[in-house]
Order: sequence, then C-alpha cells, then structure tokens
Amino acid sequence: MSTSALIPESKLPALGTTIFTQMSALAQQHQAINLSQGFPDFDGPDYLKERLAWHVAQGANQYAPMTGVAPLREAIAEKTALLYGWQPDANSEVTVTAGATEALFAAISALVRPGDEVICFDPSYDSYAPAVTLAGGTLKRIALQPPAFSVDWRQFAGLLSPRTRLVIVNTPHNPSATAWQAEDLQQLWQAIAEHEIYVLSDEVYEHICFARGGHASVLAHPQLRQRAIAVSSFGKTFHMTGWKVGYCVAPTALSAEVRKVHQYLTFAVNTPAQLALADMLRAEPQHWQRLPAFYRAKRDRFVQALANSRLEILPCEGTYFLLADYGAISDLDDVAFCRWLTEHAGVAAIPLSVFCADPFPHKLIRLCFAKQDDTLDAAAERLCRL
Ligand code: PMP
Ligand code: GLN
Repeated sequence: MSTSALIPESKLPALGTTIFTQMSALAQQHQAINLSQGFPDFDGPDYLKERLAWHVAQGANQYAPMTGVAPLREAIAEKTALLYGWQPDANSEVTVTAGATEALFAAISALVRPGDEVICFDPSYDSYAPAVTLAGGTLKRIALQPPAFSVDWRQFAGLLSPRTRLVIVNTPHNPSATAWQAEDLQQLWQAIAEHEIYVLSDEVYEHICFARGGHASVLAHPQLRQRAIAVSSFGKTFHMTGWKVGYCVAPTALSAEVRKVHQYLTFAVNTPAQLALADMLRAEPQHWQRLPAFYRAKRDRFVQALANSRLEILPCEGTYFLLADYGAISDLDDVAFCRWLTEHAGVAAIPLSVFCADPFPHKLIRLCFAKQDDTLDAAAERLCRL
C-alpha cells in the first residue's frame, strides 16, 4: 500500500445526502420559505421546555436506563391503552429510542438477516432502504399510484416468498399524506398470518390523522400486534423534531432483539428530555388529543389559500404534508421543478420521485404545512402567482 489515505469501498454506494438536507440548504441559500423538510417553524409547549430545564437543574444528567426512564415507558404504555385498547408492558414491551429513526434502524438490524426479503410500499420514507441494505436484506418495493396510493393485496400476496421476513408499513403515510383504515391492516394480517413474517409499522404521525376512522394502528389489531414493532416519535407530537426522542412498542421477544441493537447503537436516550416528556404526557394529555384539530385547521387554511393557484391539491388524510400536482404550471420533472420553485418562486418543496425506486413520472411535490399561519399565507401567495 503506497498511500496513507484510504478510501473505503462504500457499503451504500448509491446514497448521497438526503433530499431533506439538500432542499433545506437550498431554501436557506435562496431565502425561500421552507416547506420542504418536515419540521414546525413554531415551538413546542412551554411546560415541556420548563420541565426539561427543571430536570437538568435537578441533576438528572447521567445515563438513563438502557430501555428508557420508567416514568416515560409507563406513560407511553398508558397512552397506548387509551388510544388502542391494549396496554403493553412498560418494562418488557416499550423501548425509548433516539427518534423514530433509531427505532426503525434497530428493528431492521435486529430482524433482517442476509438474504432476507423485506417488502415496503413506494413512495417510501428514505431511511428504510439503507437499513435493509446494511442488514444484507433485499427490498421488494410495491409501487403505489396517486391519488389514492392504495395497495393491491393480490399483488402483495404475489410478492411473498419463503425469504420474506418483514413488511414495512407507514400510516399516516409520508409522503403521500394518505392513511390506512383498519380494513387495510386486516388485509395485511390475512396475507401474512400463515407465514413467519414480521411487521414494522412506522406510526410517527399517529396523532396527525384526519381519516374518517381515525388512525389505524397495528397496536389495535390483536393478531398483528403480536408480531409487530410499532414506532412513534415525540418530535412530531410535541413540535420538537430536534429533541430526537421516539419509541417502539413490540412483544417481549421482539423488543428483546431490538434492545440488543439499541444497546450498542446509542445505549440510552438523553435523560432530562425523557423525564420532561413523561411529565408532559401526564400533565397535558390534551396536547396530543387536540393535535388532529390543530393540524386540520392548518391544512384547511393552506388548502383554502391555494384554491386560486394552478396547483391541483390532493386529498390529505394525515401527516403535516400536502401533495400538489404542478402539471398545469410546468413540464419540468419534479426534482428540477423543486429546485426552480425554490430559486425562482421562493418556496421550497420536496419532489415525490426521490421516495420511489421505479420511475415516478407524476408531477407531484410535497409541501409541509407545520408552519405558522403567516408562513402558510406568505407561501400560498407566492404559489398563487405561478
Ligand atoms: N418516519 C417517518 C415517516 C418520518 O416522516 C420521520 C421524520 N419526519 C421519521 C420516521 C423520523 O422521525 P424522528 O425524527 O423521530 O427520527
Ligand atoms: N422526516 C422529515 C421529512 O419527511 C425529515 C427528517 C430528516 O431530515 N431526516 O421531511
């Protein structure tokens, strides 16, 4: 070896910087209104911030237990019972993680073995595929089509093989803003019941669901929850994406495997934030109970403000994202259009095709409406000029 600087052969050669980082940087560069990366431009509850400061001042600054502080795991278990009619065991079935991202990665690493197949639905959130690749698995993607993005369960059944190990579900769905109903979960159950297949259910938008039947959680399905890992995030629920605290709920045997990875990925999540979140869940349950109404009002305001634009807005059943078809405005592909929109119209958005493996020829962009009303109004005014 003649040079001292080595360049490793990449384990993820096709991967670049995430679209969220790229678009937020472009928005900043052009001082555009940033409706790309999904985060609120308003702060979380004062009580939560006060409790964080209080716990820091009290000296809760050393390692938390590996699985999460007990009061937070207990509060999560109780919230789960309230919402989904079944209470997980706080000690053995609830694990606090560094955001939902860590829970997803730990679950995939724990379950997927080299050669295993994992099914997901495109468009799919960007963190799933790299985790599957690093675990040595193969991703089988089912391409869903706008506007409904509904699953053809016959196609799904046709994709199952003896190697299928895991199905990754996400409802309410980022980026399509659609939500599954209980019947969808039942279809999933019927398809996998006879096989040793696990379910990873990304439910980070569980409290931002406007669908008729409310949020359909795997935790409310008596059979599915026995082989599912349900993932959620306090970043979404309390408007604090930067705190990076999430959790997963899974049966004891599955949780034990996830914890083996979590133990060496992060070991534990920051202590004062966990204690503050436990206080918040107990003291102000109305915060998450009112979240659907809070975000519904923002969605409706933004949709109304865009009524006179040439964008065609798709129905939004959940998440804080809105899909818009810009076909009447431009022939550019979605990635080029998002760049153009940021640079020339002063609004940053996310193209849909980056969440798909197959070509996605639709002219759809994702707009984040987790913003102050003034921000939404200003963005809508710019978009109406197109
Ligand atoms: N899953 C989905 C579908 C998401 O949209 C996000 C973040 N926006 C995450 C997971 C990651 O959540 P966290 O920030 O808690 O890691
Ligand atoms: N989940 C956020 C989104 O969909 C982005 C999170 C991130 O930047 N990694 O916009």
